Amino acid sequence: MATLALLGGRPTKTKPFPAWPQFDDRERQAILAVLDSGVWWRTPGTHTAAFERDFAAYQQARHGVAVTNGTHALEVALLALGIGPGDEVIVPDYTFVATASAVMMTGAVPVLVDVRPDTYCLDCDLTEAAITPRTKAVIAVHMGGHPADLNRLTAIAERHGLLLVEDCAHAHGSQWNGRPVGTFGRAGTFSFQQSKLMTAGEGGLIVTNDDDTERLLRSVHDCGRMPGEWFYSHFIYGSNYRLSEWQGAILAAQLTRLDEQTGRRHANARLLDRLLAEIEGVTPQSLDPRSTRNGQYAYIFHYDGAKFAGVPTKRFIEALAAEGIPNQAAYPPVHALDLFTSGAYRSRLPNLPEPHPSWRGAFPVTDRAAWETYWVPQYALLGDEQDVHEIAAAVRKVQEHAGELQ
Ligand SMILES: *Cc1c(COP(=O)(O)O)cnc(C)c1O
Repeated sequence: MATLALLGGRPTKTKPFPAWPQFDDRERQAILAVLDSGVWWRTPGTHTAAFERDFAAYQQARHGVAVTNGTHALEVALLALGIGPGDEVIVPDYTFVATASAVMMTGAVPVLVDVRPDTYCLDCDLTEAAITPRTKAVIAVHMGGHPADLNRLTAIAERHGLLLVEDCAHAHGSQWNGRPVGTFGRAGTFSFQQSKLMTAGEGGLIVTNDDDTERLLRSVHDCGRMPGEWFYSHFIYGSNYRLSEWQGAILAAQLTRLDEQTGRRHANARLLDRLLAEIEGVTPQSLDPRSTRNGQYAYIFHYDGAKFAGVPTKRFIEALAAEGIPNQAAYPPVHALDLFTSGAYRSRLPNLPEPHPSWRGAFPVTDRAAWETYWVPQYALLGDEQDVHEIAAAVRKVQEHAGELQ
């Protein structure tokens, strides 16, 4: 009888998962082209500008503005939309810190709201209940690549006169009702950090369909300049958030693979949905039928220790990882981060002596998502069907032997 790899047995996974990042001569040629051109920065360059156009076109957006990273994409978007001191911006409690800290950076208060138990995306009822006269915007996070409910969020934004921003850091290539994410609201932000669905190590981009927003995005990201004006005229507050030509050139190469990779991850994830449905105590993030294409930054499933002989989540993760299934740490709840609990947030919000009441709320779904889920990273879904079967087989093996983990 097989022994758990954690206890010295042979791992379930023998064939390695695909490596990440993926690259070939396209990236190599891209770097050399920039090197030989002698133009390594954005302003007079052509590579980053071309990538902005190509990526925006892929997401069916009118405009794309490349920036240094996904955190800055959020900051630049919020600044360009005029968010600042005195404003509130609703963000999910279940996300990477940047979604909330970018709001703080502008001087506005991030108001935290719990997520849905099925998709782990913003709960729209709670979102609507959190709106006050100070609310200016809502940032929806497409968790793990699964779009938030964009039908309801666009309706809520419209009804209350709010700006909707989509944090698409997990969702390159994701579609809602057959349309790519990013332009359902006023702006959509992307990250090209190494773990994301395409990468130059670091990088970010903002898409918008609104011409005025695009002008302001460009200005904020380029020291307050305005396109076409003298180099040393600075009209509004901005900073240097420009992406280098190296990164723009590499990302253009990465983009040539995104569509095929997205299709493969989406298909492999649906196979994994079917296989895990047969295992008690394991509940995958559910797929809304309107989520017609999921970029699948992570495959997230809930783990119920009661069906695994009471083994705690942490031990389950260790056991599954030992079987050769990669694990990406799940996000802790935003409200529990030191930044929010220690008073350190006051460096950005000096007029908020006490934590915002929403930070002290109850977030039962986020708590479960944070402490009771397993995240399979996106590159593990870039393999073949055998890889997917082995993920399910490893979960089954850990369940069968859970008693030995006591
Ligand atoms: C990665 C990420 C960001 C920030 O992107 P960086 O490029 O790492 O700055 C923002 N939001 C979410 C949801 C992310 O996963």
